[in-house]
Amino acid sequence: MVYLDSAATTQKPQCVIDVTTQFYTSQNANVHRGRHTLSEQATAAYEQVRQRVADYFQVSGNEIVWTKGATEAINLVAHGLRNTLTTDDTILISPIEHHANIVPWQELAAYTGATLKALPLNDNATFDIKQCCDVIKHTKPALLAITHASNALGNITDLTPLISAAKAVDALTLVDGAQGALHLRPNLIKLNCDFYVFSAHKMLGPTGLGGLYGRYSALNALSPYQTGGEMIEKVTLTQSTYRDAPAKFEAGTPNIAGVLGFGAALEYLMALDQQTLKQYEQQVFIYAANALREIDGICIYSDLKSNIGTLCFNYKNEHPYDLATLLDGYGVAVRSGHHCTQPLMTHLQLNGSLRASFAFYNTTKDVDHFITALKECIALLD
Ligand code: PMP
Repeated sequence: MVYLDSAATTQKPQCVIDVTTQFYTSQNANVHRGRHTLSEQATAAYEQVRQRVADYFQVSGNEIVWTKGATEAINLVAHGLRNTLTTDDTILISPIEHHANIVPWQELAAYTGATLKALPLNDNATFDIKQCCDVIKHTKPALLAITHASNALGNITDLTPLISAAKAVDALTLVDGAQGALHLRPNLIKLNCDFYVFSAHKMLGPTGLGGLYGRYSALNALSPYQTGGEMIEKVTLTQSTYRDAPAKFEAGTPNIAGVLGFGAALEYLMALDQQTLKQYEQQVFIYAANALREIDGICIYSDLKSNIGTLCFNYKNEHPYDLATLLDGYGVAVRSGHHCTQPLMTHLQLNGSLRASFAFYNTTKDVDHFITALKECIALLD
């Protein structure tokens, strides 16, 4: 089969599967609780992975919080700002965001009385960065929440000028790295955002795990999202005090096996040369884009010049579900629908699209198979 749905979730290297199985087979114990050997070993291994994530993003270990995914990480920040934002504040997002980076801000706006606004977008769903910077300058938002790369289009956001403009008006910045974290491996100190969220399952790791990077002072200033065991300092029957970040945001037993599996994924990734990986991914992506462009009746919505490796397209007025179902019959897995980006689809005047998303394990042979199958599916529809 040809798997072209890595933007939804990546495949897992064998080492991730092995480490997860090994934990349950012979190392299973809870973390941060027992004094017995197994528990201490589990705690050490678990905390080592937190440091590995920090190394991957070139930040400090105490700035990484485990969550169950990018969605929960955004909710954590949105919830944590409930006591900070007021009716005078504006939250600025963009029209290309995944619903996970829209709905939590709608809830925060409703809770605090803050105003929610979106950056302007060109007709082709790219940003006019200068215009966006002007909007940030004049809106003076309390927070700018924006994606590193669009999950529907693959377009990479030119974040540096946007974050600078936000910093100039003292706005907090949150970057949705669900798509960018694997393909762009950002240095978060250089990127200079306050928060960056990611999902382990889109970075070769297990499902049900993700995380939040927070610049320490910004992170520790958030109020806790969930409360309970492990995040407390002292509990009486009537009140409690909380630990500092990251423990403050990690109530309850975490996804230990998931974290260890993710550690193996990161070790695997970090052993690969990033430049080589990027070049290879781009080669396969451009090869696919060129082949797709040559098919009569195909319309591509992705910006091919600055893209993590995702092709968003339709064939004439055919329903994307029909083509995706036919492609599945040829062993080609692509996504179809609105990709959890309904405002973007509305902007593009689409009900939905097909999406072929690539990762470094895809080959030009996969592309050939995909294009041949697509041509045959189109012939069936025409
Ligand atoms: N943001 C973007 C850009 C995404 O692509 C996704 C997943 N499709 C999310 C947020 C949410 O990630 P998760 O479902 O892993 O929480």
